[in-house]
Amino acid sequence: MKKDLIRRIADDGEASEIEIEELLRCGGDDLKALYAAADRVRHEQVGDEIYLRGIIEFSNYCRKSCDYCGIRGPNRAVTRYRMGIDEIVDIAGEAERLGNTTVVLQSGEDVWFTGDRICEVIRGIKRKTGVAITLSIGERPYDELVRFKAAGCDRYLLRFETSDRELFGRIHPDDDFDVRVQCLHDLKRAGIQVGSGFMIGLPGGTVGTIARDILFATALKLDMIGCGPYLSHPDTPLSQGPLLEDREMYFKTLSILRLLNPRAHIPATTAFDALFEGGRDLVLTRGANVFMPNVTPQKYRALYQLYPNKPCVDEDSGQCSVCVMGRVARLGRTIGTGPGHSGLQKDEK
Ligand code: SF4
Repeated sequence: MKKDLIRRIADDGEASEIEIEELLRCGGDDLKALYAAADRVRHEQVGDEIYLRGIIEFSNYCRKSCDYCGIRGPNRAVTRYRMGIDEIVDIAGEAERLGNTTVVLQSGEDVWFTGDRICEVIRGIKRKTGVAITLSIGERPYDELVRFKAAGCDRYLLRFETSDRELFGRIHPDDDFDVRVQCLHDLKRAGIQVGSGFMIGLPGGTVGTIARDILFATALKLDMIGCGPYLSHPDTPLSQGPLLEDREMYFKTLSILRLLNPRAHIPATTAFDALFEGGRDLVLTRGANVFMPNVTPQKYRALYQLYPNKPCVDEDSGQCSVCVMGRVARLGRTIGTGPGHSGLQKDEK
């Protein structure tokens, strides 16, 4: 039985690689104890509010070729689209009306959206709404990050995807692991709240890889940790990637992250719904405290398929909003009313 180990890790917020591997392999009553501990720490440290961060997928153009991604540049099967600046600002206003206190502006690495244009989008949204802004637009140089911050950017999401350098290099033909990590440090230096994370169950990884990814994410002292199951896309070089044999491993990873990062924001990522019936609801009872509804207009949704069977493709933002409110209410939780800024104390960063 690992209940003493779970209790100790929940109390200390620390664990070794071997201990994390033990938890990743646990089952039965230990599994229940792990999920209960993560839910308790979430309740005590970040409360019962669930923050809504509306995702606006504003461009599916991408100059890169990540081996797992459905909208990678070389995928000719994708019909490309790019929203206009005014259109993005209008959608942000609609997202706020639907209860989102943050909008997440997400795209491929689209060179049309220069630093100047991104700043224009940020300023437009800040003029028109009271929402916090998260960017998720890939690697950008430090001077642009500084300008984004000055324009009003609050947060930035940039996943490291795997802490295994060799695996990172193999699946990211255009990228360098050190540049990715440097960009995360640059974001902090620019005064932007940082979110990062990894794919759980990447082909070529092991249980040890997941344990090291958990430790790597923890060492970065992130404001937000976003992780989801790796899901293979048929039009990519990794199209044959299998799912993890132990499906609970996806949830165990999130729960362990909560124990080691008690005050971080941890979203129930959309990919959990693609793999499990009610997957996001389950994650919210196992450590997560953020929900990211899709507020992209319905006409674009089918064109932004990072992985197949992506949920909420046929719904519009209004339907998603009603669905989310119902899900939160059924969990006995409340919608976060403030911006949901970083829960990390300054001295922890
Ligand atoms: S993961 Fe991001 S950078 Fe890589 S191909 Fe997909 S959209 Fe482009």
